[in-house]
Amino acid sequence: MTATTLFPGRYVQGPDALAHLSDEVARYGERGLFLVDPYVQDHIFPRYRADLQTLDLQEIRFGGECTQEEIDRIEEAAEPTVEFVAGVGGGKTMDTSKAVADDLGVSTIIVPTLASTDAPCSALSVLYTADGSFDRYRFYPRNPDMVVVDTSVVIEAGERLLVAGMGDALSTWFEAEACRQSGAPNMTGQQGSMTAYSLARLCYDTLLEYGEMALNALHAGASSPPLEKIVEANTLLSGIGFESGGLASCHAIHNGLTMLEATHDAYHGEKVAVGVQASLFLRDTPPRRIDEVYDFCETVGLPTALEDIGLHDPSEEDLRLVARRATEASETIHNEPVPITVDRVVAALRTADRTGRNRKREPVAA
Ligand SMILES: [Zn+2]
Repeated sequence: MTATTLFPGRYVQGPDALAHLSDEVARYGERGLFLVDPYVQDHIFPRYRADLQTLDLQEIRFGGECTQEEIDRIEEAAEPTVEFVAGVGGGKTMDTSKAVADDLGVSTIIVPTLASTDAPCSALSVLYTADGSFDRYRFYPRNPDMVVVDTSVVIEAGERLLVAGMGDALSTWFEAEACRQSGAPNMTGQQGSMTAYSLARLCYDTLLEYGEMALNALHAGASSPPLEKIVEANTLLSGIGFESGGLASCHAIHNGLTMLEATHDAYHGEKVAVGVQASLFLRDTPPRRIDEVYDFCETVGLPTALEDIGLHDPSEEDLRLVARRATEASETIHNEPVPITVDRVVAALRTADRTGRNRKREPVAA
């Protein structure tokens, strides 16, 4: 049985990490293509342009969706001499830049301006269709050469995005643990390693211990050790944990939820959190653990009911659509150590939703 673990080539994180971006990216060449999220290009990137002027850079404004059409557009515009592609922005900017770098055969640099997903460190992209539905995963032969996270910029992105990142990170240990128990493979198709499972557990423990304190730092507008720990958990631990530990039901249910238009305003990590809650009722989870997850989600402000992600009183038909998508033969939900059916997924979603709503009505006495 072969185990495989993947890592980004270099991971740099701290307040003002972007102040020295030119030194960091110069390791990978002098001529680079920067794919920049539109908001970041207008409001954040101008601060760093002077520092980057020593390099020969081409800057392209990201179109907003990680689709095959967008990847083709950027590749047509790219100058033939680029030595690296740097994606600056959110998950979709990063995923698009990974695809472009791979097609062009050059180094990949990822500069997340938020800590809302586990996308930065991984060797895969999530492609969407033009209407915003999940299309497919695209895998690459290697992880990003470098990931640079400036926590001051992450603070500017605001609370909801950091919390969404905690939702994505919350799934990491549950899904890795499901794969470990069932012997299911990780994202490489081989077994997860002790390293990956341990980092996934560290990710979960870090969220429970520092999640609330990190939000206090964010509101204070200044980084602090708890905030740095949460950004690292959301980005590095969650990235290594999901990719090398494996995915299971939480992300499959997320993929199912994207089928419903009403969920499109909820962030990836917010829908994944709902997937985590539903996953607790697919397995025979101890009540103590269920309480721990809901307590955490309530404390940091993650969704705990379907209405929180835009699904007000969903029909049986809607939930079956979600469950059918989540249980497609190719989906990671079958990595769970229990048998999976459409009916069981619908029941888990309903039970998780009811649990969350009941808790809102009857807050537990302090
Ligand atoms: Zn995710």
